[in-house]
Amino acid sequence: MSEEYKVSIGLETHVQLKTRSKIWCGCANVFGSEPNVDVCPICLGYPGTMPVLNREAVKLTVLSGLMLGCEINRYSKFDRKSYFYPDMPKNYQISQYDKPLCLGGSVEIEVNGKKKTIRIHRIHLEEDVAKNNHFDGASGVDFNRAGTPLMEIVSEPDLESADEAFAYLQALKQILVYGGVSDCNLEQGNMRCDINCSVRPESQEQLGTKTEIKNMNTFKGVHRSLTYEIKRQIDELRKGGKIYQETRRWDDEQGVTKAMRSKEYAHDYRYFPEPDLMPVVLEEAEIEAWQASLPELPATRRQRFISEYSLPEYDAGVLVAEKAIADYFEQVAELSGNAKAASNWMMTEMMRVLSDRDAEIVDLPITPAALGALIKLVDDKVVNMPGAKTVFAELVEQGGDPQAIVDAKGLAQVSDTAALDAWVEEAIAANPKSVADYQGGKQAALQFLMGQVMKASRGKANPPMVLDALRERLGAAG
Ligand SMILES: [Zn+2]
Repeated sequence: MSEEYKVSIGLETHVQLKTRSKIWCGCANVFGSEPNVDVCPICLGYPGTMPVLNREAVKLTVLSGLMLGCEINRYSKFDRKSYFYPDMPKNYQISQYDKPLCLGGSVEIEVNGKKKTIRIHRIHLEEDVAKNNHFDGASGVDFNRAGTPLMEIVSEPDLESADEAFAYLQALKQILVYGGVSDCNLEQGNMRCDINCSVRPESQEQLGTKTEIKNMNTFKGVHRSLTYEIKRQIDELRKGGKIYQETRRWDDEQGVTKAMRSKEYAHDYRYFPEPDLMPVVLEEAEIEAWQASLPELPATRRQRFISEYSLPEYDAGVLVAEKAIADYFEQVAELSGNAKAASNWMMTEMMRVLSDRDAEIVDLPITPAALGALIKLVDDKVVNMPGAKTVFAELVEQGGDPQAIVDAKGLAQVSDTAALDAWVEEAIAANPKSVADYQGGKQAALQFLMGQVMKASRGKANPPMVLDALRERLGAAG
């Protein structure tokens, strides 16, 4: 019988902070400029320039620490990490070594209904490096990204599967976006991570030899590379082979990890205190004020949605997953005075539109006020559900006022008994077989007749009234 293996995964997640300017200089912290536009002698790493710490970057890192339940170091400092590569011409990166801003903390994840706490080891602040771009026959370095404030969140090796790593990154992203710390936009490289992964026989206490997969920039890539790497390591051990401590590269096209170089040890970086920056000393009052400024976090909000709006746990989870969607839902619930209907529209029609168009809710022309008003029109029986869906489709396309759309498209629900009776008579006269079926006991025939009446009214008849009229006219099913 072959032995089972345990997996241990730790993630080092780099998150670009949402500050207006870079960490040591006044250059804009933006994405998408022409290469080497947002630069100055400081972020180009010219000799003799002096960094000045952007206090906002410290604040956002501390806010992250507070949201993740970390201990905030009242005294922290920066260090130089020796490092030779074209993306860092000063040959060292300013980072934090032995006195990071935050220690400890945790992230709650849920995989297949099972909740688990993943411990955070530390969070430190550093500068991002430039970006090497490779062209046919040449390479270029773009320094726009150099000096972007970068927060590194180091987890303990508590993750035990690719699914857990994926859930951890999602939970982390959710919290950081909620806190306004980062946009966590993966396409723009706001969030990248290095993976440490090891396996060991179940009977073994001590962690196995780990490999590191560097610079992953999609959650899906993390999941795929881990799925591959875990299997590779287990297969290797099963056949009596050895795992080497090394850095591996994920080849997305081939779907494999490949050895790059043997892992440097920390002393290779020759960390030493950064002489050009003062240590960071945080006052109690400042940390308290930051703590007080924090928004409600996703887990708390989810609980509140369940209790305040009586939403099922699943729906509450979907609605809070993105802050913008949760905010939108709450506005619609308040404006319509019908949280249940608001949640139904969000969970079905709105989610479908967002996924079909791969759109962000804030970019849609339909406002929370418009959706709230539409729900009221349904509740006041001005328009029936099919009509409301037509109005919704129009609002999604070009916005506007629901009542005006109902008027312009002639969608007002018809509740006038004379008109309804005429459609009912018409349907009965045209479908004697269905009438006989219904009277013979077939309930489905009533649905068919109902459909005929709705069709004759071009969808505008008041459905409950039609049903009543049909039942009254035909008598109970036999
Ligand atoms: Zn600069």
